[in-house]
Amino acid sequence: MKRTCTFMMVGFVLLLMSSCMSAKQGTEGHQPVEKEEKGQGQEKETNPVQQKEETKNEGDDESWIQQKEPVELPILMYHSISSGNSLRVPKSEFAAHMKWLKDNGYVTLSPEESYRVLSTNTKPSEKYVLITFDDGYTDNYTKAFPILKKYGLKATIFMIEQSIGRPHHLTDEQMDEMIAHGISIESHTIHHLELNRLSTEQQEEELKGSKQFFDQRFSQRTRMVSYPVGRYNEATLKLAKEAGYQMAVTTEPGHAKKEQGMMSLHRIRISPGLSPESFGKLVEGN
Ligand SMILES: [Zn+2]
Repeated sequence: MKRTCTFMMVGFVLLLMSSCMSAKQGTEGHQPVEKEEKGQGQEKETNPVQQKEETKNEGDDESWIQQKEPVELPILMYHSISSGNSLRVPKSEFAAHMKWLKDNGYVTLSPEESYRVLSTNTKPSEKYVLITFDDGYTDNYTKAFPILKKYGLKATIFMIEQSIGRPHHLTDEQMDEMIAHGISIESHTIHHLELNRLSTEQQEEELKGSKQFFDQRFSQRTRMVSYPVGRYNEATLKLAKEAGYQMAVTTEPGHAKKEQGMMSLHRIRISPGLSPESFGKLVEGN
């Protein structure tokens, strides 16, 4: 009896142990698998997105070419697309310029991309350009915009705050439509006064006030200011930076370079009467 009892008890204990172990194995064996599956599942769901973003960023960084020599950025300066004086470029000529850029493989930059070029000394491609218009004339919308859209080119318009909606100047609706198609609206101050003739307080108001206005109006970070009539002084450079602009453009001729000072970048004036070839030489810096 005793023997049988002991045998049964040992058997029972063994049975208990084995079932315990199998349960333990089960949990141990199962949970990690579940974890692993979950982990893999998460990886499958989230990592490709992260990887994609990383690849995209890396791709962007890789496609931007780091330069040893200081980069030069051609910033083209247009005003009105019409005819009548030395600041007005006829539509047919403007169209030929844009076609030249497209045919010659130029990439047009946004203010943000332009800042990246100059501040990090990298190129987004071999050929790149920033197209700008001063004053925000209506013909920028009626004549230039259809051509820019046709060729898929970006451009920047320096708008005078108080001119919005005034005769011969862009309206709110026109600016909104253009922004939706790659056009940037940046500051040409509030009143288009020659900054070097103003007091520090007035300059500050023109620079800071217009930046705040354009920031709010377009829910953007306004990065650039174009000094009216290209006039500025030492105080302007300091105040423009303090106002929060990343770059400011003048009317001094030539390609923009960082060494000019980010608050006093040069531009290439596009005058009427240029053939596409002469235009090309200006852009290329020949
Ligand atoms: Zn102007």
